Amino acid sequence: KKLGIALVGLGGYGGGQLAPALQQTQNCYLAGIVTGTPSKAEEWSKKYNIPQKNIYNYQNFDEIAKNPDIDIVYVVLPVSMHKEYTIRAARAGKHVICEKPMALNAADCREMIAACKKANRLLSIGYRLHFEPHNMEAMRLGQKNVLGKVTVIDTGNGFVYTGDPNAWRLKKALAGGGGLMDMGIYAIQAARYTLGQEPIAVKATQEKTKPELFKEVDETVFWELKFPGGQKVTGKSSYNNNWGYLRVTTEKGKFDIEPAYGYDGIDGHINGKPMNLPNINQQAAQMDDFATCVRLNKTSRVPGEEGEKDMKVIDAIYRSLDSGKWEKIG
Ligand code: NAD
Repeated sequence: KKLGIALVGLGGYGGGQLAPALQQTQNCYLAGIVTGTPSKAEEWSKKYNIPQKNIYNYQNFDEIAKNPDIDIVYVVLPVSMHKEYTIRAARAGKHVICEKPMALNAADCREMIAACKKANRLLSIGYRLHFEPHNMEAMRLGQKNVLGKVTVIDTGNGFVYTGDPNAWRLKKALAGGGGLMDMGIYAIQAARYTLGQEPIAVKATQEKTKPELFKEVDETVFWELKFPGGQKVTGKSSYNNNWGYLRVTTEKGKFDIEPAYGYDGIDGHINGKPMNLPNINQQAAQMDDFATCVRLNKTSRVPGEEGEKDMKVIDAIYRSLDSGKWEKIG
């Protein structure tokens, strides 16, 4: 039997990516939804054949505890709501996938991890690139020193924000931050999974060219990470530049992925030669893997702890932007 997933938050990502991916999954399916908008409930119910008894709103959400159709709750809400809904889902006895960035800060991540542990439920973060062939190849090449040790990493991720100027993404209380929280997290992740090590300190600077749009959140951030191995690791994030690359230099060569972090069209090279790897439906692979983990009661390759590690780096980057100095991570 396929495990049932309930999506909480039927916005751009839930509706545009996760629901379609759940039409391709083998081990799980779209069993339920949680939405505050009755018209959306009706539309989704028809489109995806979701029975009325599996549709919840934010008020009656906790009743999901009594619903055996739902095994996994997938939290796809604004960042400030991740903690509350992850904890409520775990208390309702459901396993949880929570979108990135995991929470507003690392302290909140720890509360979420503890709540899931206490409820004896598995927690995973929506890090789809851990299932993406080119990014998995970067992990293998970097972590196994296939081309010798990694010496330099440069990576950036961002897009030119042209959306609603009043959207949650631009509100500090709801998003926690701007391009760094939303896009930079991929670049931080990539540096960490290419090296298979944790950074110990960071120094960051920022640039703001549209202060009227990015009143509350960061626009473009640049950082340098210090790793125990002494590699030179730089990164950048933006809501005002179209970036999306990972470039790695090693003792005996180089590899790169560009575009690196999108849903499709990912392309990579090793010493200038194509990686020749396929693009897959990352979200389907990610959710199928978590369903297997739940079935086997096995920790996901992207557990809550992975989300916490990125938030520790992001917390330190914001501290460095304030202090102008190197800040310790953790
Ligand atoms: P969105 O704005 O398109 O959707 C957010 C949903 O939350 C909407 O359905 C909205 O109705 C609902 N919501 C409930 N309470 C709300 C409130 N108080 N304010 C605003 N919306 C509220 O956002 P999105 O792009 O779908 O992002 C949701 C989450 O998914 C974020 O954490 C984001 O970082 C993450 N995301 C991940 C990826 C990925 O590739 N893994 C891609 C896009 C988004």
